[in-house]
Amino acid sequence: MPAFCIAPSILSADFARLGEEVRAVIEAGADWIHFDVMDNHYVPNLTIGPAVAAALEPHCRRPDGSTVPLDVHLMVQPVDALALAFAKAGADIITFHPDASTHVDRTLQLIRDQGCRAGLVFNPAAPLDVLEWVIDKVDVVLLMSVNPGFGGQSFIESTLAKCARARRLIDAERQRSGREIRLEVDGGIKVDNIRRVA
Ligand code: ZN
Repeated sequence: MPAFCIAPSILSADFARLGEEVRAVIEAGADWIHFDVMDNHYVPNLTIGPAVAAALEPHCRRPDGSTVPLDVHLMVQPVDALALAFAKAGADIITFHPDASTHVDRTLQLIRDQGCRAGLVFNPAAPLDVLEWVIDKVDVVLLMSVNPGFGGQSFIESTLAKCARARRLIDAERQRSGREIRLEVDGGIKVDNIRRVA
C-alpha cells in the first residue's frame, strides 16, 4: 500500500456508465474506489446500494489482476444492516458516521467480523473524541472536508487542523500496537489543495 492513496468518488461518475468509469479511473492510477452511500435520512440525498456495489466489484481490478479496494462510505442511519449487506456485496472497507450508530463499538466489530476494514467518519463540526475509545478497532479514519450529502462542494479549511490532530492519535496508536490506520479526507480535494492536505 502506497504512503498516499487516491480514492476517486463514484459520485463524480456518469451513473449510466459506472463499470466503464471505474475501469477508467483504475487505469489512470486510482488506489481505491470510494463508494458514497446516501439514504435520504442521515443525509438529504439518495444514491446507490449494495446491488450496485456487487455489480461494480468485478470491475475493481488492475490490468495485472490485483484488486482495487471498494471503499464504502455509509451516510446512512441505522448502520448495521446496510453494513452487513455491503460486506456481502464485496466491500473491502466500510466506514460509517459514529452519530448514525447507536452502538459504535458493536458496529465496528460487526464490520470486522465480516473480514472488512472498518472506519469512522467525522463531519466537519464533529469532534474526534469517540475515536480515543475505539481506536483499537478502527482501520480507517475518514474526515469530511465538506458537509456530507452532495458532491462538488468546496473544501472546509478547519479540516486541516483536524487532520493534524487525527494523525497524532493514529501515530500514538501505531506506537502502542504497531497497527497501521489509514487517514482519509473526503470532499473538495483538488489539484490546488491536495498538497496541503497531504
Ligand atoms: Zn465519501
